[in-house]
Amino acid sequence: MNVTKDFFMMLSQNRMLNGAAKRWGLKLGAQSVVAGTTVEEMVQSIRKLNAIGISATIDNLGEFVFDKNEALQAKTQILAVIEAIHEHELDAHISLKPTQLGLDVDYDFCLENLREIVSVAHQHSIFVNFDMEDHAHLQPSFDILEELHKDYDNIGTVIQAYFFRAEEDIQKYKNYRLRIVKGAYKEPENLAYQTKEDIDANYIKLIEYHLLNGAFTSIATHDHHVINHVKKFVKEHGIPNDKFEFQMLYGFRKDMQLQLTREGYNFCTYVPFGIDWYGYFMRRLAERPQNLNLIVKQTFNK
Ligand code: FAD
Repeated sequence: MNVTKDFFMMLSQNRMLNGAAKRWGLKLGAQSVVAGTTVEEMVQSIRKLNAIGISATIDNLGEFVFDKNEALQAKTQILAVIEAIHEHELDAHISLKPTQLGLDVDYDFCLENLREIVSVAHQHSIFVNFDMEDHAHLQPSFDILEELHKDYDNIGTVIQAYFFRAEEDIQKYKNYRLRIVKGAYKEPENLAYQTKEDIDANYIKLIEYHLLNGAFTSIATHDHHVINHVKKFVKEHGIPNDKFEFQMLYGFRKDMQLQLTREGYNFCTYVPFGIDWYGYFMRRLAERPQNLNLIVKQTFNK
């Protein structure tokens, strides 16, 4: 783990800065990777993506929810996003984090919040993805997913390739629509692969498994090596384009997002928005400090 990564990770977890940033509006160049602070701004951004054939998964940003009121507020905001998708006929679905809906407050409270969201989304045929967070929240998130899957089929989740348990999880949840990622959090050595080589190898293995054996696959990466491998793999195995999609984050590798869409692949952009942008933004800088150069350029080259 290098120092820059640790530094941005530490900044992302600073509750005081997270709180203060809510009052700043989008700053520090965050506007290049966050699609506004209001529902209206988010709708405009998604309309632009839809117009070029790209669908969206919408993340109403939220961090550090430790009390019931904040979780209820997050639920109300996500319900408003679902209504906006429906009303504006956006080609979009929801991504949410169980901790935002109160997983750190109380399991059953979180379950009921998620049930309400999934149920309203179901009425409008909108898919809801449970984003995966750090290892402490992994099992309860899977438990809630399974519980809700008894009543609703419009839900899926994320498999993080750095976890040793990921292979077992992907087999267990192969009938779910899954997003497969490398993994964004700093995880301990007894639970997760630590080197890029090991994570990448497991990542490819999991993608291939789900493409061959599972339900719909979202391959969420900016890594062109992985993308090129997948393109070759689906061709060799006769896997049709409607069985999978590529996903990238809003504002990243925009040329490649467009190129993949033009090549006829399904493409879905992860669109974060909201006043709680700070932690998300710092984690992106931690992942790839070169993003700082990009953001500085975009901020000053107006
Ligand atoms: P990396 O391993 O970061 O990069 C590999 C190579 O790709 C780099 O060496 C470089 O050559 C190239 N590259 C990467 N980025 C760029 C760039 N911006 N410009 C040019 N070249 C680049 N993580 C979770 O833990 N839980 C989630 O729920 C989750 N959801 C996600 C949803 C989406 C849509 C995406 C894209 C990621 C999500 N992640 C999630 C984050 C993910 O786990 C990784 O941390 C993140 O995507 C960085 O890994 P990578 O696969 O993009 O490639």
